[in-house]
Amino acid sequence: METRRRVINADLIKTLSSLGCVILKDELLSKHCSFKIGGRADFFIEIPNEQSLLEFLKNIEGYKFYVLGSGTNVLFSDEGYRGAIVSLAGQFKEISVCGKEIFCGSAAPISNVLNASLRYNLTGLECAAGIPGTVGGAVCGNAGSKDRWIGSVVRNVKVYKGLKKEVIDKKKIIFSYRKSNLANCIVTGVSFVLKKDTKNDSLSVVSDNIKRRLESQFLNAPSAGSIFKNPDGYSAGKLIEEVGLKGTYSGGAQISKLHGNFIINTGGASSKDVVFLVELVKEKVKEKFNLALETEIKIIK
Ligand SMILES: Cc1cc2nc3c(=O)[nH]c(=O)nc-3n(C[C@H](O)[C@H](O)[C@H](O)COP(=O)(O)OP(=O)(O)OC[C@H]3O[C@@H](n4cnc5c(N)ncnc54)[C@H](O)[C@@H]3O)c2cc1C
Repeated sequence: METRRRVINADLIKTLSSLGCVILKDELLSKHCSFKIGGRADFFIEIPNEQSLLEFLKNIEGYKFYVLGSGTNVLFSDEGYRGAIVSLAGQFKEISVCGKEIFCGSAAPISNVLNASLRYNLTGLECAAGIPGTVGGAVCGNAGSKDRWIGSVVRNVKVYKGLKKEVIDKKKIIFSYRKSNLANCIVTGVSFVLKKDTKNDSLSVVSDNIKRRLESQFLNAPSAGSIFKNPDGYSAGKLIEEVGLKGTYSGGAQISKLHGNFIINTGGASSKDVVFLVELVKEKVKEKFNLALETEIKIIK
């Protein structure tokens, strides 16, 4: 069934504001994603704590909304978003460490969680080194490097499914390559269970990971990281290089010359420019290798 659009009424805006929410009307989404692309959302709502999240959820039935982390793996449409983009903030950014466990709100930057683990001499989160974004985004998309994923150190995840609050144990979460079965939940917190770094080598693994990233990715221009998932046994970047598309432009968007799986916004790129390149890559890779590339980024309309 199509979700019907309903205007967030003045009473709800007043209630949410009194609970500390920041509500922005007609907010430009290009300000809220690493691609720097996207039109206006009807509402952009920053929710600082569980009380206001629950109030929002109780009153939002029938209204279209989308939970955003820090927008490093998304492409917003030039037409914007008819509904509310929800961003968890405040209390949801807290991090605490107890023994080998780290508890964090889903809006905590994953880099802060990694830093906390290093401070407490804990190992397990090194695969997150240099990955931008929040804990919520990382866990929902099982972020990581080629062979290590963040899901492997999750103990449990706190979520809302509709109005129901749940703690989902790791055993019930299916983590696979850049995917989890948490897609229909609002993740509010994550507990990671790590190991003591007895060899004292976490820091060098982290700096190696960051060095590798700096060498292979063009990090100065706006992007959303890897556009496509690597098909089994292949590197999407290499396939794109082999079809000769590195450096190709569409308007202000360009397939990176350094890393074929990155599209960068060279200035003023529209979502249409990016989508054009995405479709071109898919077509050429299918034609030459008979492989269907799947996007890793979420395209939000
Ligand atoms: C330069 C660059 C390099 C990158 N390198 C890597 C890499 O090496 N490995 C890797 O895995 N990724 C990489 N990425 C992609 C991105 O950083 C990760 O996917 C990151 O984990 C996304 O986090 P986010 O908070 O920005 O999520 P967003 O982009 O905001 O959201 C991503 C998805 O998660 C959902 N989501 C976010 N928070 C919540 C929540 N609290 N509850 C429910 N759903 C939620 C959103 O709805 C959306 O579907 C890179 C991106 C960039 C720009």
